Amino acid sequence: MAEKPAIAIRGAGIVGLWQALTLARGGFPVTLYEASPAPFADAASRYAGAMLAPRCEEESAEPLVRRLGLRGVELWQAAYPGTLTHGSLVIAHPRERTLLERFAKMTSAHERLNADEIAKLEPQLGTRFPAGLYFPDEAHMAPEPAMRFLLEEAQKAGAIFRPGEAEVSQPADITIDCRGMGAKADLPELRGVRGERIIVKSDEISLVRPLRLLHPRLSLYVVPRGNGEFMLGATAIESDENGPITVRSALELLSAAYAVDPAFGEAEIIAQGAGVRPAFPDNRPRIISHGRYIYVNGIYRHGFLLAPVLAELMLSYLQDGAAEPEIFVADRC
Ligand SMILES: Cc1cc2nc3c(=O)[nH]c(=O)nc-3n(C[C@H](O)[C@H](O)[C@H](O)COP(=O)(O)OP(=O)(O)OC[C@H]3O[C@@H](n4cnc5c(N)ncnc54)[C@H](O)[C@@H]3O)c2cc1C
Repeated sequence: MAEKPAIAIRGAGIVGLWQALTLARGGFPVTLYEASPAPFADAASRYAGAMLAPRCEEESAEPLVRRLGLRGVELWQAAYPGTLTHGSLVIAHPRERTLLERFAKMTSAHERLNADEIAKLEPQLGTRFPAGLYFPDEAHMAPEPAMRFLLEEAQKAGAIFRPGEAEVSQPADITIDCRGMGAKADLPELRGVRGERIIVKSDEISLVRPLRLLHPRLSLYVVPRGNGEFMLGATAIESDENGPITVRSALELLSAAYAVDPAFGEAEIIAQGAGVRPAFPDNRPRIISHGRYIYVNGIYRHGFLLAPVLAELMLSYLQDGAAEPEIFVADRC
């Protein structure tokens, strides 16, 4: 049997980590390079809500995201014990009932809940919301523990990790570029979509699953992180800037959280910050092959949902030459 080609992967965000794990488990010699000396410090991925929500995303994303996303949920469930499959809940205040109806029409595989059923599912909310949509198959996780797990598992499968290295320093047959916004100079169509989020802590609030509040002006989801911590997210601003969040965004996120439950008024703010989602103009991910240099990028707001599927597609491509036509682009930038 011929030896498998040596693979260099650039970037240890969620995309690079899944590539490293899947290819190392597939028997390829893998070296994973990450520019930042501390793992994940500069990755947009650490800011993610890390919701696996292929059904809720139907509201705004293309059918491709649902199709690949359903497979993404399966791959996470098979690989990572920290994947929490408690579904997700979409709610709106009584005067925003039309937004809920629209969301129901745009999405599938949900159950309609009345106030009592919402209170049963999430007692914290009581009967304040007269109607909601429950998506039982969706999942979520805390991003950094999941990333640490993927890195450790990739290393157990034989991958070599080289933090603090921004260039490929060892001989490689194939390079897979997963640098997110770090590849912008090579991929002129790539743009950044800034996402701001706040982490709060409260021992008085108990939620089991991600909640989305539909509102004409405010956009909010709340993701439980365990230990009384909740991620409040997220803005979507056309900008390449990460760093601290603005006062306007903080006001919007915190007001929306207060509208979900006044108990958030007493919570402590323990972290805030923004990550930049890498996106192509049509917001679809791409695998762009230039012979032996291959970019995996543009995963936009679906990095956690789709990264395992892009890794699975890469494995089939390297093993059998199979190239999913909706994702692969050959010899083009
Ligand atoms: C607020 C927010 C909420 C989100 N919520 C969700 C969600 O709920 N569900 C979901 O699926 N997605 C979500 N996303 C989207 C998801 O986070 C992104 O799609 C994902 O992080 C992109 O991953 P990436 O690996 O492409 O990029 P990154 O995570 O940015 O990783 C790129 C890595 O490459 C490294 N790098 C750069 N240059 C070099 C170099 N020269 N050499 C080596 N390494 C280099 C960087 O340091 C970085 O670690 C959210 C994003 C944000 C900002």
